[in-house]
Amino acid sequence: MDYFPLFADLHHRPCLIVGGGAVAARKVRQLRRAGARVTVNAPELTAELQSLAEAGEIAHASRDFDPALIHTHLLIIAATDDRQTNHAVAAAARASQRLCNVVDDGPACTFIVPSVVDRSPLLIAVSSGGQAPMLARSLRQQIDAWLPARVANLARWIARWRKRVGQALPSFPDRVEFWQQALDGAPAEQVLAGREAAADDLLEAQLNGRSAARGEAWLVGAGPGDPELITQRGLNLLQRADAVLYDRLVAPALLDHARRDAELVCVGKQGGGAAVKQADINSQLIARVRRGQRVCRLKGGDPFIFGRGGEELQSLVDAGLPYQVVPGITAAAGCAAYAGIPLTHRELAAGVSFVTGHRADGAPATDFKPLVRSGQTLVIYMGGRRLEALCKELQTHGKSPETPAALIERGTTPAQCVTGGTLADLAARVDKVASPALLIVGDVVALAESLRWFVSESTDARVAI
Ligand code: SAH
Repeated sequence: MDYFPLFADLHHRPCLIVGGGAVAARKVRQLRRAGARVTVNAPELTAELQSLAEAGEIAHASRDFDPALIHTHLLIIAATDDRQTNHAVAAAARASQRLCNVVDDGPACTFIVPSVVDRSPLLIAVSSGGQAPMLARSLRQQIDAWLPARVANLARWIARWRKRVGQALPSFPDRVEFWQQALDGAPAEQVLAGREAAADDLLEAQLNGRSAARGEAWLVGAGPGDPELITQRGLNLLQRADAVLYDRLVAPALLDHARRDAELVCVGKQGGGAAVKQADINSQLIARVRRGQRVCRLKGGDPFIFGRGGEELQSLVDAGLPYQVVPGITAAAGCAAYAGIPLTHRELAAGVSFVTGHRADGAPATDFKPLVRSGQTLVIYMGGRRLEALCKELQTHGKSPETPAALIERGTTPAQCVTGGTLADLAARVDKVASPALLIVGDVVALAESLRWFVSESTDARVAI
């Protein structure tokens, strides 16, 4: 280990910054956030530092570097733009056994400052020992994005309970097991969902040995294909679930995020007999939640857009079981973005409709009449197999044969394929429609040509607009 990591309590501790420019000002801000008593040693100060000094928020030693200041300060930072001065500060600090950081000069430092994710009281520090600061920065950003939004609440909630739990469970291994169970289970989940009162009840029950495993269903939108298009909240629940019931449309890479011991069950529908299948899914969901499992019902796109999420929720509600719903990026939004088609546009489309091109047997067919008005974008889900018929139907209802239209197959995945044309010729341009496929109709489709360059780079898409 090249450095010893530590978190120092600097509240009311004297810290010295030599230098009065922009870099020094940044360091002053960091130290003040940690409650330090800061002295700045520099003949001149930036306007920001000057006003802090005038307000008495920092002390100002208004002269060139003064070695006499070193031994009265705990930490020293050399932040002048003069290498010689910085080295003189470092040498003086070393002679007085003080820790010293020289900005942008690793070898002269006796301490370095890590990249920090601050979710106080939780602090995560990342350092590459000054070797690869950009890597440390990037990892910091990734950790920041990965952490649940309410992780600080979780830390404070644990702090609030620690004494009680410590008194009730004097043995350390018992406490470790107790907290592990709470953190892996429903109590922590409730805090992260912003329901602390429910979390308190669950922990109280766990403490009294009354904790029945508490199941819950999570309807999570997985996004349209690219595994990175799941929301942060969705990913978080996926990582915690005891079981994942997933659709055929869900990106396989997403399942790698599930716990290693989680049950992964594909409940994908292959068409035909869908109604019976849906009933099976509902009853499987209910049975698992009743058994105490936390079940992530992972659905392609958004659960409430042609996802039958409403039906699954209704059966959970009827069974009196708890649930959460996490929205997802629906295929229309994902495919349009990756194909460079803005769904609305100030001049070309004042609105957008999402409709289905396929109805279950017996259900009324989609009424296109009100949807063919000009100045509207139409996104047709589940229409791949009826592409030719749909293009004709729209023309029968008065849409011009020249209306731009695009078929997006396997949108947002590396196999995305966008075929552009008009209502009159699109069907003839597509050999055999791959699944899943989305049809977008409207003047905005023509914009894809000009916008294509910056959106199609991310996939190996065969773009044929
Ligand atoms: N709940 C989903 C839709 C499920 S219905 C959502 O919000 O996106 C299934 C239909 O969605 C498919 O027939 C197709 O029309 C569309 N679809 C889903 N993913 C798609 C993708 N990656 N590319 C193109 N169309 C997609």
